[in-house]
Amino acid sequence: MSSPRAADRPRGRRAARFAVGTLVAAATAVVALPAVPAQGAAAKVVYLTFDDGPSPRYTPQVLSLLSQYGVRATFFEIGQNVAANPEVTRQVGAQGHSVQNHSWSHPDLRKLSKSAFQYQVSATDARIRAQTGTTPSCLRPPYGGVNGTVRSAAAGLGKSVQLWSVDPQDWARPGRAAIERRVLDAVKPGSVVLLHDGGGDRGQTVAALPAILGTLKSRGYTFALLPCR
Ligand SMILES: [Zn+2]
Repeated sequence: MSSPRAADRPRGRRAARFAVGTLVAAATAVVALPAVPAQGAAAKVVYLTFDDGPSPRYTPQVLSLLSQYGVRATFFEIGQNVAANPEVTRQVGAQGHSVQNHSWSHPDLRKLSKSAFQYQVSATDARIRAQTGTTPSCLRPPYGGVNGTVRSAAAGLGKSVQLWSVDPQDWARPGRAAIERRVLDAVKPGSVVLLHDGGGDRGQTVAALPAILGTLKSRGYTFALLPCR
């Protein structure tokens, strides 16, 4: 998620050659991070993401605000919540947003057997596909819990792992103003912002959205979907 550090300036006769090697390594590192597309860092693009839904109470409020501001976002949904509120997931997809996989029951995927991992992902895929007609190609592991095993198991199921770069901790309900400030102070071109539309009382997140959307638009940002199917 981090940008290449252009400020790395080795000294001495071999500095130029070393610097070229550093740049190549840095460019490779950017390509290897699918959460922030390379062009996103240059353009004033921000990727809004909403986790832990769908919620019959809060997701429609989020959708209404996104529609009002003409913004599209990526929703990482929990399979058992999709099963309980399928019409909400259908609505998210029908309004042009991207619905992606956040596991079936929100476990730490690093602690699961391979078969349990596969169930968490595949059962969620099936519920989302039934509502949107599309099988998610992106997986966001709960708690950002990623290691090599999770990455390779995800890749084995055709999933790219997507994390985030801006986390205002809205789930902890720090207050509307704190959520607004934390997002607006941290966003830069290419940021992936983590917010929540489910998993508890998300009233503060909903209340913070108008200022977040309005301010970022006034700063010249556009909003894009993460590169998932
Ligand atoms: Zn989550």
